[in-house]
Amino acid sequence: MKGQNADKVCFDEDLIRRYDGRGPRYTSYPTALQFDAAFTADDYREAALASNESGLPLSLYVHVPFCHSLCYYCGCNKIVTRNQTRVNRYLDNLHAEIDMQAQLFANERMVEQLHFGGGTPTYLNELQLDALMKKLRSAFSFDESDTHEFSIEVDPRTVSRRSIAALSDLGFNRLSLGVQDFDEDVQKAVNRIQTAAEVQSLVAASRDAGFKSISFDLIYGLPHQSVSSFDNTLNTVIAMRPDRLAVYNYAHLPERFKGQRMIDAADLPLPQTKLDVLHHTIDKLDAAGYVYIGMDHFALPDDDLVKARHAHTLQRNFQGYSTHRACDLIGLGVSSIGNIGRTYAQSAVTTMEYEALIEKGRLPIARGVALDDDDVLRAAAIQQLMCYDEIIFVDFDKCHATEFTDYFAAELDRLSPLAADGLVTIDDVGVHVTAKGRLLLRNIAMVFDRYISSEPHGERYSKAI
Ligand code: SF4
Repeated sequence: MKGQNADKVCFDEDLIRRYDGRGPRYTSYPTALQFDAAFTADDYREAALASNESGLPLSLYVHVPFCHSLCYYCGCNKIVTRNQTRVNRYLDNLHAEIDMQAQLFANERMVEQLHFGGGTPTYLNELQLDALMKKLRSAFSFDESDTHEFSIEVDPRTVSRRSIAALSDLGFNRLSLGVQDFDEDVQKAVNRIQTAAEVQSLVAASRDAGFKSISFDLIYGLPHQSVSSFDNTLNTVIAMRPDRLAVYNYAHLPERFKGQRMIDAADLPLPQTKLDVLHHTIDKLDAAGYVYIGMDHFALPDDDLVKARHAHTLQRNFQGYSTHRACDLIGLGVSSIGNIGRTYAQSAVTTMEYEALIEKGRLPIARGVALDDDDVLRAAAIQQLMCYDEIIFVDFDKCHATEFTDYFAAELDRLSPLAADGLVTIDDVGVHVTAKGRLLLRNIAMVFDRYISSEPHGERYSKAI
């Protein structure tokens, strides 16, 4: 069990500047850069059938790629369209994929987790969402008990109080609202206008509908932001008291994301302002009672994420963090990623390829990776750091039938300079991330990544801060 002191985070500007580089967010290990077309749909099928031996519960991720309009900062896989014919064709193929995938998994395996992401899942109207949930429920066995975790990403501009209640009726019990920033100038500059009053009304509707957890996404580093403008946003956010907050760093990569060319680089905050905004955000959320979970995520002390962190049942996954025990994850929809047994598999990343494969009756798997024994150990070490800020040698050895200090002797050496800088401490018990190391978790985790040292990091990863 972790004490409250272990939840503390300390902003050390000097260290952050020195370690300011690019690195993976480790929502998976190996990261998606290691996925390869040599991993085929046949490999996926074999892994899926073999996974039934484990009897693990299932988690479903459903990708809805459509959006009504373009937010200029966006780096997601999305399609901005109003063309319902296109949407209907995608949904037909998604339903067909659900049938194909469900045939691979034993019926008694319960779906304990479900996440709708995008794009904008609430782009779909109530009838389309209802049909999709019916399809999923008929294809898989859903855990309808109180412990299931069914979440959906909500664009506040696409829902009403009534549609929030409808989402609850469909079985969703967690939602995350894309807020980003309440400042009008910032909203205009990124083409995403939504008032605080609208969001407040949806929060109230979500509470009335019995949603267990409400999460907000915020972004710092957007055009026109300053410490004082973001402070106003934080005041509004804190007054609404979301259970969870994710505060992401905007990465301006206009060569890679066309929409970002609509943002005038001259309007972006200077690097020092960005650091000041982050520092202020951490202090302010701490003072407001939020606990820093890790990697941009905060939660109220009575939220399940904090409880899971203290009870060592937290999981790092593609949605950030989750409280659920290990599941096999099935990705459904274009570009979705599944994690079955010791494999990761990603579907085709364009709707054209995705639909062509399904219309030929084939699983839409385009690439993936099968983990070897070394990957599994490194993934476990990185998961420990990302979720609990420490690796306890004796626990690791027991769990993985290995000698951590022998197996990772070279990595422990490579951690020495980070220890000298105060990011970690290393003793006979384990590796412990310090309060100031918590903001540089990915730099620490990168020491255990065997793929990273040989590669230039370029723009393939976002910046640590
Ligand atoms: S931020 Fe969300 S709503 Fe905006 S374009 Fe990206 S996926 Fe669509």
